[in-house]
Amino acid sequence: MTEPPKRSHGRLRVSLTPQPSDLMDMRPAAPWTAKVITLFPEAFPGTLGLSLTGKAMDLGLWGLETIALRPFGEGKHRNVDDTPAGGGAGMVLRADVLGRALDVAAIGTPGRADWPVVYLSPRGRPFDQATARRWAGGRGVTLLCGRFEGVDQRVLDEYAIDEVSLGDFVLTGGEIAAQAMLDATVRLLPGVLGNAASTEEESHAAGLLEHPQYTRPSEWRGRAIPPVLLSGNHAEIEKWRRAEAERITRDRRPDLWAKLGRD
Ligand code: SAH
Repeated sequence: MTEPPKRSHGRLRVSLTPQPSDLMDMRPAAPWTAKVITLFPEAFPGTLGLSLTGKAMDLGLWGLETIALRPFGEGKHRNVDDTPAGGGAGMVLRADVLGRALDVAAIGTPGRADWPVVYLSPRGRPFDQATARRWAGGRGVTLLCGRFEGVDQRVLDEYAIDEVSLGDFVLTGGEIAAQAMLDATVRLLPGVLGNAASTEEESHAAGLLEHPQYTRPSEWRGRAIPPVLLSGNHAEIEKWRRAEAERITRDRRPDLWAKLGRD
Protein backbone atom coordinates (compact mmCIF):
# COMPACT_ATOMS: atom_id res chain seq x y z
CA MET A 1 0.00 0.00 0.00
CA THR A 2 1.32 3.41 -0.88
CA GLU A 3 0.97 6.10 1.67
CA PRO A 4 -0.65 9.36 0.68
CA PRO A 5 1.94 12.09 0.26
CA LYS A 6 2.58 14.11 3.36
CA ARG A 7 1.92 17.70 2.55
CA SER A 8 3.12 19.40 5.64
CA HIS A 9 6.36 20.67 4.16
CA GLY A 10 5.01 24.17 3.68
CA ARG A 11 4.34 24.52 7.39
CA LEU A 12 8.02 24.67 8.17
CA ARG A 13 8.61 26.40 11.45
CA VAL A 14 12.28 27.20 11.61
CA SER A 15 13.66 28.34 14.90
CA LEU A 16 17.06 29.75 14.25
CA THR A 17 20.14 29.80 16.36
CA PRO A 18 23.14 31.85 15.35
CA GLN A 19 25.36 28.80 14.67
CA PRO A 20 26.32 28.39 10.99
CA SER A 21 25.51 24.68 10.98
CA ASP A 22 21.89 25.57 11.54
CA LEU A 23 21.90 27.91 8.62
CA MET A 24 22.61 25.32 5.96
CA ASP A 25 19.03 24.42 5.13
CA MET A 26 17.69 27.93 5.33
CA ARG A 27 17.14 28.31 1.62
CA PRO A 28 13.44 28.87 1.02
CA ALA A 29 11.70 25.61 0.10
CA ALA A 30 8.54 27.32 -1.13
CA PRO A 31 8.27 29.49 -4.24
CA TRP A 32 7.25 32.48 -2.14
CA THR A 33 8.51 32.79 1.40
CA ALA A 34 7.88 35.10 4.32
CA LYS A 35 10.57 35.41 6.96
CA VAL A 36 9.35 36.94 10.18
CA ILE A 37 11.73 38.14 12.87
CA THR A 38 9.87 38.15 16.17
CA LEU A 39 10.23 37.76 19.91
CA PHE A 40 7.07 35.64 19.76
CA PRO A 41 7.43 32.93 17.09
CA GLU A 42 4.62 31.02 18.81
CA ALA A 43 2.20 33.65 17.42
CA PHE A 44 2.77 32.12 13.95
CA PRO A 45 1.31 30.87 11.70
CA GLY A 46 -1.72 32.00 13.73
CA THR A 47 -4.61 32.79 11.43
CA LEU A 48 -2.34 32.25 8.43
CA GLY A 49 -2.48 28.51 9.21
CA LEU A 50 -6.26 28.47 8.69
CA SER A 51 -8.50 28.17 5.66
CA LEU A 52 -7.15 29.18 2.26
CA THR A 53 -3.79 30.54 3.42
CA GLY A 54 -3.22 27.46 5.60
CA LYS A 55 -4.13 25.06 2.79
CA ALA A 56 -1.84 26.92 0.43
CA MET A 57 0.94 26.58 2.98
CA ASP A 58 0.31 22.84 3.24
CA LEU A 59 0.46 22.60 -0.53
CA GLY A 60 3.82 24.39 -0.54
CA LEU A 61 2.50 27.41 -2.48
CA TRP A 62 4.13 29.62 0.10
CA GLY A 63 6.37 29.15 3.09
CA LEU A 64 6.71 30.81 6.45
CA GLU A 65 9.93 30.96 8.46
CA THR A 66 9.85 32.50 11.86
CA ILE A 67 13.18 33.71 13.17
CA ALA A 68 13.06 33.94 16.93
CA LEU A 69 14.80 37.05 18.17
CA ARG A 70 15.61 35.73 21.64
CA PRO A 71 18.55 33.44 20.68
CA PHE A 72 20.33 36.45 19.18
CA GLY A 73 20.20 38.28 22.52
CA GLU A 74 23.13 39.36 24.66
CA GLY A 75 24.62 37.46 27.55
CA LYS A 76 23.35 34.62 29.67
CA HIS A 77 19.81 36.00 29.67
CA ARG A 78 19.81 36.71 25.95
CA ASN A 79 18.76 40.30 26.50
CA VAL A 80 17.26 41.86 23.39
CA ASP A 81 16.29 45.30 24.69
CA ASP A 82 17.55 48.17 26.80
CA THR A 83 16.42 51.55 28.06
CA PRO A 84 16.03 54.41 25.58
CA ALA A 85 19.00 56.71 25.11
CA GLY A 86 17.98 60.12 26.40
CA GLY A 87 15.58 58.63 28.92
CA GLY A 88 11.86 58.02 28.84
CA ALA A 89 9.49 55.14 29.33
CA GLY A 90 9.81 51.60 28.01
CA MET A 91 12.50 49.60 26.30
CA VAL A 92 14.04 49.63 22.83
CA LEU A 93 15.17 46.58 20.83
CA ARG A 94 18.96 46.65 20.45
CA ALA A 95 20.58 47.31 17.08
CA ASP A 96 23.29 44.65 17.54
CA VAL A 97 20.74 41.94 18.39
CA LEU A 98 18.48 42.90 15.48
CA GLY A 99 21.48 43.09 13.14
CA ARG A 100 22.42 39.49 13.86
CA ALA A 101 18.86 38.31 13.22
CA LEU A 102 18.64 40.35 10.00
CA ASP A 103 21.92 38.87 8.75
CA VAL A 104 20.55 35.38 9.26
CA ALA A 105 17.25 36.34 7.60
CA ALA A 106 19.18 37.62 4.57
CA ILE A 107 20.75 34.21 3.89
CA GLY A 108 19.39 32.79 0.65
CA THR A 109 17.33 35.85 -0.26
CA PRO A 110 17.74 37.73 -3.56
CA GLY A 111 18.07 41.53 -3.96
CA ARG A 112 15.62 43.95 -2.40
CA ALA A 113 13.67 44.43 -5.63
CA ASP A 114 12.38 40.86 -5.30
CA TRP A 115 12.45 40.66 -1.52
CA PRO A 116 11.53 43.72 0.53
CA VAL A 117 12.82 43.98 4.08
CA VAL A 118 10.22 45.72 6.20
CA TYR A 119 9.82 46.95 9.77
CA LEU A 120 6.20 46.97 10.92
CA SER A 121 5.74 50.41 12.37
CA PRO A 122 2.99 52.94 13.09
CA ARG A 123 5.34 55.54 11.56
CA GLY A 124 5.50 53.67 8.26
CA ARG A 125 3.91 54.17 4.87
CA PRO A 126 0.37 52.78 5.11
CA PHE A 127 0.00 49.22 3.81
CA ASP A 128 -2.52 48.90 0.98
CA GLN A 129 -3.60 46.58 -1.81
CA ALA A 130 -0.89 47.93 -4.13
CA THR A 131 1.74 46.99 -1.52
CA ALA A 132 0.27 43.50 -1.25
CA ARG A 133 0.38 43.16 -5.03
CA ARG A 134 3.99 44.33 -5.17
CA TRP A 135 5.08 41.93 -2.45
CA ALA A 136 3.21 39.04 -4.09
CA GLY A 137 5.04 39.82 -7.33
CA GLY A 138 8.42 39.22 -5.69
CA ARG A 139 9.94 36.08 -4.24
CA GLY A 140 9.28 36.81 -0.62
CA VAL A 141 9.48 39.33 2.15
CA THR A 142 11.27 39.72 5.48
CA LEU A 143 9.19 41.32 8.22
CA LEU A 144 10.68 42.66 11.42
CA CYS A 145 8.19 42.76 14.29
CA GLY A 146 8.90 45.37 16.92
CA ARG A 147 7.90 45.28 20.58
CA PHE A 148 8.01 47.73 23.48
CA GLU A 149 8.97 51.23 22.25
CA GLY A 150 10.29 49.88 18.96
CA VAL A 151 13.75 49.37 17.51
CA ASP A 152 17.04 51.26 17.55
CA GLN A 153 16.97 53.68 14.59
CA ARG A 154 20.48 52.72 13.51
CA VAL A 155 19.40 49.27 12.42
CA LEU A 156 16.73 50.76 10.15
CA ASP A 157 19.32 53.13 8.64
CA GLU A 158 22.07 50.51 8.31
CA TYR A 159 19.86 47.97 6.52
CA ALA A 160 17.77 50.58 4.61
CA ILE A 161 14.64 48.97 5.97
CA ASP A 162 11.21 50.17 4.79
CA GLU A 163 8.73 51.07 7.50
CA VAL A 164 5.17 49.98 6.76
CA SER A 165 2.10 50.61 8.93
CA LEU A 166 -1.11 48.65 9.28
CA GLY A 167 -2.98 51.86 10.05
CA ASP A 168 -3.12 54.93 12.22
CA PHE A 169 -3.21 53.21 15.58
CA VAL A 170 -0.61 51.70 17.90
CA LEU A 171 -0.35 47.95 18.52
CA THR A 172 1.76 46.41 21.26
CA GLY A 173 3.78 44.45 18.72
CA GLY A 174 4.28 43.90 15.01
CA GLU A 175 2.99 40.31 14.94
CA ILE A 176 -0.67 41.08 14.20
CA ALA A 177 0.35 43.61 11.57
CA ALA A 178 2.66 41.03 10.00
CA GLN A 179 -0.13 38.46 9.84
CA ALA A 180 -2.58 40.94 8.35
CA MET A 181 -0.13 42.01 5.65
CA LEU A 182 0.91 38.45 4.89
CA ASP A 183 -2.72 37.35 4.60
CA ALA A 184 -3.41 40.13 2.10
CA THR A 185 -0.28 39.23 0.13
CA VAL A 186 -0.48 35.44 0.17
CA ARG A 187 -4.06 35.37 -1.17
CA LEU A 188 -2.74 37.08 -4.30
CA LEU A 189 -0.18 34.35 -5.01
CA PRO A 190 -0.98 32.05 -7.93
CA GLY A 191 -3.18 29.10 -6.93
CA VAL A 192 -3.93 30.24 -3.38
CA LEU A 193 -7.55 31.24 -3.90
CA GLY A 194 -8.31 28.84 -6.72
CA ASN A 195 -11.88 29.51 -7.75
CA ALA A 196 -12.90 30.45 -4.23
CA ALA A 197 -12.73 34.15 -4.91
CA SER A 198 -11.77 36.62 -7.53
CA THR A 199 -9.08 39.14 -6.75
CA GLU A 200 -10.05 41.17 -9.81
CA GLU A 201 -13.51 42.21 -8.75
CA GLU A 202 -13.16 42.67 -5.01
CA SER A 203 -12.75 45.83 -2.95
CA HIS A 204 -9.70 47.94 -3.82
CA ALA A 205 -8.90 45.98 -6.99
CA ALA A 206 -9.97 48.82 -9.28
CA GLY A 207 -10.01 51.60 -6.69
CA LEU A 208 -13.66 50.88 -5.79
CA LEU A 209 -15.18 49.15 -2.79
CA GLU A 210 -17.17 46.03 -3.54
CA HIS A 211 -20.91 45.94 -4.23
CA PRO A 212 -23.15 44.22 -1.62
CA GLN A 213 -23.33 40.41 -1.71
CA TYR A 214 -26.36 38.19 -1.09
CA THR A 215 -27.05 34.46 -0.91
CA ARG A 216 -29.89 32.15 0.09
CA PRO A 217 -32.55 32.37 1.41
CA SER A 218 -34.03 34.70 -1.20
CA GLU A 219 -36.19 36.24 1.48
CA TRP A 220 -35.07 36.64 5.08
CA ARG A 221 -37.02 38.47 7.81
CA GLY A 222 -39.03 40.27 5.18
CA ARG A 223 -35.90 41.35 3.31
CA ALA A 224 -35.71 40.31 -0.33
CA ILE A 225 -32.59 40.00 -2.46
CA PRO A 226 -32.55 42.82 -5.05
CA PRO A 227 -34.61 41.29 -7.91
CA VAL A 228 -32.05 42.15 -10.58
CA LEU A 229 -29.62 39.65 -9.00
CA LEU A 230 -32.17 36.86 -9.56
CA SER A 231 -33.07 38.00 -13.10
CA GLY A 232 -30.37 36.03 -14.90
CA ASN A 233 -29.65 39.12 -16.99
CA HIS A 234 -25.89 39.36 -16.70
CA ALA A 235 -25.53 42.76 -18.32
CA GLU A 236 -28.09 44.23 -15.93
CA ILE A 237 -26.46 42.51 -12.94
CA GLU A 238 -23.10 43.94 -13.95
CA LYS A 239 -24.61 47.41 -14.30
CA TRP A 240 -26.26 47.17 -10.86
CA ARG A 241 -23.06 45.97 -9.19
CA ARG A 242 -21.02 48.73 -10.76
CA ALA A 243 -23.51 51.39 -9.65
CA GLU A 244 -23.59 49.99 -6.10
CA ALA A 245 -19.79 49.83 -5.93
CA GLU A 246 -19.63 53.47 -7.02
CA ARG A 247 -22.35 54.57 -4.58
CA ILE A 248 -20.65 52.85 -1.64
CA THR A 249 -17.21 54.18 -2.52
CA ARG A 250 -18.52 57.74 -2.96
CA ASP A 251 -20.43 57.62 0.36
CA ARG A 252 -17.88 55.87 2.54
CA ARG A 253 -14.53 56.76 1.09
CA PRO A 254 -14.49 60.17 -0.56
CA ASP A 255 -10.69 59.88 -0.55
CA LEU A 256 -10.79 56.80 -2.82
CA TRP A 257 -13.53 58.36 -4.94
CA ALA A 258 -11.48 61.53 -5.49
CA LYS A 259 -8.57 59.44 -6.76
CA LEU A 260 -10.79 58.00 -9.49
CA GLY A 261 -11.51 61.54 -10.73
CA ARG A 262 -15.12 60.79 -11.68
CA ASP A 263 -16.86 63.94 -10.47
N1 SAH B 1 6.83 53.82 20.30
C1 SAH B 1 6.37 53.48 18.99
C2 SAH B 1 5.27 52.42 19.03
C3 SAH B 1 5.77 51.07 19.47
S1 SAH B 1 4.50 49.89 19.41
C4 SAH B 1 5.81 54.73 18.30
O1 SAH B 1 5.24 55.55 18.99
O2 SAH B 1 5.90 54.84 17.06
C5 SAH B 1 5.41 48.40 19.45
C6 SAH B 1 5.60 47.70 18.13
O3 SAH B 1 4.35 47.37 17.60
C7 SAH B 1 6.30 48.51 17.07
O4 SAH B 1 7.68 48.38 17.16
C8 SAH B 1 5.75 47.93 15.77
O5 SAH B 1 6.53 46.84 15.31
C9 SAH B 1 4.38 47.40 16.19
N2 SAH B 1 3.29 48.28 15.74
C10 SAH B 1 2.56 49.10 16.51
N3 SAH B 1 1.63 49.75 15.80
C11 SAH B 1 1.75 49.33 14.52
C12 SAH B 1 1.08 49.65 13.31
N4 SAH B 1 0.09 50.54 13.26
N5 SAH B 1 1.48 49.04 12.18
C13 SAH B 1 2.50 48.14 12.22
N6 SAH B 1 3.17 47.79 13.33
C14 SAH B 1 2.81 48.38 14.48
